[in-house]
Amino acid sequence: MPSDWLDPATGALIVPGHGPVRPFLPVRTDRGGFSYAPLPGRPPLVSTTEWAEPGTDRSETGPMSLDELRAGVRRVLGADVPLGPPPGSGPHVLRRLDGGNTRVAERYRDGRVFLVGDAAHVFAAGGTGLDVGLQDAVNLGWKLAAAVNGAVDVLDTYEAERRPVADRTITYSQAQSALLSPGEDVTGLRRLFGELLAQPGVVRVVADLIAGADVRYPVGDDAHPLAGLPAPDLDLRTSAGTVRLAELVRTARPLLIDLTGSGGLRVDGVEVVRAEADTDATALLLRPDSYVAWASNDARPYPDELRHVAARWFG
Ligand SMILES: Cc1cc2nc3c(=O)[nH]c(=O)nc-3n(C[C@H](O)[C@H](O)[C@H](O)COP(=O)(O)OP(=O)(O)OC[C@H]3O[C@@H](n4cnc5c(N)ncnc54)[C@H](O)[C@@H]3O)c2cc1C
Repeated sequence: MPSDWLDPATGALIVPGHGPVRPFLPVRTDRGGFSYAPLPGRPPLVSTTEWAEPGTDRSETGPMSLDELRAGVRRVLGADVPLGPPPGSGPHVLRRLDGGNTRVAERYRDGRVFLVGDAAHVFAAGGTGLDVGLQDAVNLGWKLAAAVNGAVDVLDTYEAERRPVADRTITYSQAQSALLSPGEDVTGLRRLFGELLAQPGVVRVVADLIAGADVRYPVGDDAHPLAGLPAPDLDLRTSAGTVRLAELVRTARPLLIDLTGSGGLRVDGVEVVRAEADTDATALLLRPDSYVAWASNDARPYPDELRHVAARWFG
């Protein structure tokens, strides 16, 4: 792509007959979508998305060509972009996908084989695949370590916890695809959605959905309301000063937060932090992925219950 097509101030692609295309922000037109992603250290990534007219079959066969991409860009933007092959010998990938590539694997585990990341799920729209995949890896990683320490059953919770997150992300991805599709009705829906996103409560719901943080991992019916959720980011007042819980969990080890004030809680092999905090909880047992394994509001939490939960999760 010639450099005089780029605005040096904004990095936008200037397309005569269409206007500027800002980097990394998908453009929606009456005919489809276009995006331009100038990733550092490699040729820019260019993609188009088109919706077939009802009753037509536009599916191509054979390897994708640069001419096919140029024609797609022309249809979507209504203007030509001088796309040439990237410098260097390649391999340069041109890829065509028919239909939305939004899928989740039938199962996440087969014996000693586990699926993580894009091997377990892919999402055509939304830009959350990396995030969800990393959370899969963190979820499985500490459980493999726990299994080595004797908590073998913990491995069975991997799919039970992570698959519902992929299912939720599919809902999000499908909604994103719908909002990118052409048509005046969709334009109205986008306008309404934009108005809703001015409300902090709605932003919270969507942000948690995007972050994969709106799914509570399975816990028993009588579990504490915090169990199965990411740990709340409390300010902990300890004898050494105030520290955010989010900072303490960086070590990715089991952690017992003792907020009883009497300081009597302990579990073998689990680091204990004694503190005060603005919460009704008197104790929190955190997993290495900083999800709450167990919590109590009792002034004197029952130590056997705590030890039982710790043995189940950590071996
Ligand atoms: C255009 C595009 C834009 C995206 N944008 C975003 C975004 O904004 N935000 C986001 O969160 N996600 C985004 N994603 C998704 C994100 O890139 C993926 O979810 C993420 O990279 C998946 O990571 P992974 O490690 O599971 O798989 P991969 O990144 O695919 O890594 C798998 C690795 O395994 C290697 N491999 C494959 N087979 C073998 C083999 N037999 N032996 C040895 N190695 C092998 C591959 O070469 C590859 O390096 C985007 C994806 C695309 C395509």
